[in-house]
Amino acid sequence: MRLKNKVVLITGAGSGIGKATALLFAKEGAHLVINDLSSEAGNETVKEIVQLGGEAIFLQADVTKADEVERMVAEAVRSKGKIDVLFNNAGISGIGALHETSEELWDQVTNVNIKGVFLPSKFVLPHMMKQQNGVIINMSSCIAEIGLSRRAIYSATKGAILALSKSMQVDYAPYSIRVNALLPGTILTPFVENYLNNSYENAEEALESIKKRQLSGDLGRPEDVAKAALFLASDESTFMMGSPLYIDGGVTSGKMA
Ligand code: NAP
Repeated sequence: MRLKNKVVLITGAGSGIGKATALLFAKEGAHLVINDLSSEAGNETVKEIVQLGGEAIFLQADVTKADEVERMVAEAVRSKGKIDVLFNNAGISGIGALHETSEELWDQVTNVNIKGVFLPSKFVLPHMMKQQNGVIINMSSCIAEIGLSRRAIYSATKGAILALSKSMQVDYAPYSIRVNALLPGTILTPFVENYLNNSYENAEEALESIKKRQLSGDLGRPEDVAKAALFLASDESTFMMGSPLYIDGGVTSGKMA
């Protein structure tokens, strides 16, 4: 029970990595506040947690809307009394080289991926500062460290999140708040399934080529990232501050000959 009685808010926890993390954290004794755009998906995560014997509530909010996020955080604190861990996980993809990227897509991906980290953090931090304790986990990506074709705006946002995590860590270290970033490689979630189907003529071939670029020879699973998030959320990582944690099947460390 590495998170016994810890209150954890996870954004985008109706699907993929956020959902797998919520389920794992519940097994470790955490009380979950599940956020998602979709009430149906968020409530399904809550249902599965309750079936496991865990505790969770769902709070719908769009992480790009300040009034909705402020209301969500206030309701979480009113209902649970505190927030110990914030996992800024919600994010969307954006396909295209820079010249192919429309201004609309640029703004949309920037809003969800960067503002969606800014706003929940902005409203949760005063509570953590008051309690002189807290953990923030920001979802970056290994794309912050390596170039990948036709991912201009997505990589820009994930690089920004890594840089932001380091600056946040400096500001909030005096309050015993730790801020770290997760850098996954390609993880098999609905997010990746959609982009395989939408951006390649042959999704099967694309999947095989992605597998080849990972030293593991396979994609990661949401549970692989959830375990890394658990490490960052727990006291086992108390000496990790402002750090990137890679869970990428070796994609950033080297290439096969
Ligand atoms: P996913 O299955 O698509 O889950 C993302 C969740 O975020 C969805 O439930 C989505 O809700 C929610 N969301 C999107 N926009 C939102 C908003 N404005 N407000 C609240 N919730 C919102 O994706 P995933 O693969 O688990 O990705 C989770 C995070 O990991 C993302 O930040 C992604 O960039 C990052 N990541 C993923 C990979 C990968 O290979 N999968 C690799 C590196 C990093 P709806 O479905 O209702 O829109």
